[in-house]
Amino acid sequence: MTALLAVEEVSVRFGGVHALRSVSLEVAAGRVAGLIGPNGAGKSTLFDVVSGLRAPATGRVLMDGRDITGSSPQARARLGMARTFQRLELFGELTVRQHLVVAHRVRHRQARLALDLLGLGSRPRPGEDDAVDGVLDLLGLGSIAGAPARALPIGTGRLVEVARAVATEPRVILLDEPSSGLDGAETERLAAVLGRLRAERAVALLLVEHNVDLVLSLADRVTVVDFGAVIADGTPDDIRADQAVQRAYLGAAP
Ligand code: ADP
Ligand code: MG
Repeated sequence: MTALLAVEEVSVRFGGVHALRSVSLEVAAGRVAGLIGPNGAGKSTLFDVVSGLRAPATGRVLMDGRDITGSSPQARARLGMARTFQRLELFGELTVRQHLVVAHRVRHRQARLALDLLGLGSRPRPGEDDAVDGVLDLLGLGSIAGAPARALPIGTGRLVEVARAVATEPRVILLDEPSSGLDGAETERLAAVLGRLRAERAVALLLVEHNVDLVLSLADRVTVVDFGAVIADGTPDDIRADQAVQRAYLGAAP
């Protein structure tokens, strides 16, 4: 199976710090790739390279085998790459449903951002209501579709972030620490949603997380970085049994 997203031998330096040393990973449609590692390991730097916010010193990023290393985040979005943010980036006055309508219209290049942000957008495009309902359903957000974002607890807000990414009908979704700030129940709900997303939409998911258990429960393949280098790469079972991984996490809260 050709990888939908591939990172090939990516290196990044900040002065004397090797933030990434020849890191590679890949993920196919309908699969979840996990990236874990202790604080300062290079996870966010890799996320930035994949999403197009930072150019690597060496190495490549490919979508469908096509080199996108030099492409802007916007160009990557047009190719079907979506991302969520670690900090919630929702608009307080817009309802959950309106967030998804805007995302859907951005995908279909019909966004009239100013009007949509005011909730005064044009009539729905054909299929829009069904598409948005489908995403609300998939993420279990139907019952709060009319709630303004400012009224939502953080765990629900995070699901709306994911829903907004899904509403752009992406082929690859990059998730940056989606469980940060969530309690145990919220994290479980997130895990269930991500599992459903992978099964029903056949998207490729790259999950960057400090929550090791979440990644090990969801990912098909896990890459572990420490001090910028890959120290393990394998199935969740491989990773659980790996001595180098256990050493890297010794004394560090996972
Ligand atoms: P993680 O997300 O795994 O915690 P990061 O990718 O944020 O790790 O950081 C990897 C390393 O690169 C760390 O040593 C960090 O201090 C360093 N680093 C990250 N961003 C910058 C930057 N903008 N300038 C200088 N050093 C940075
Ligand atoms: Mg980070």
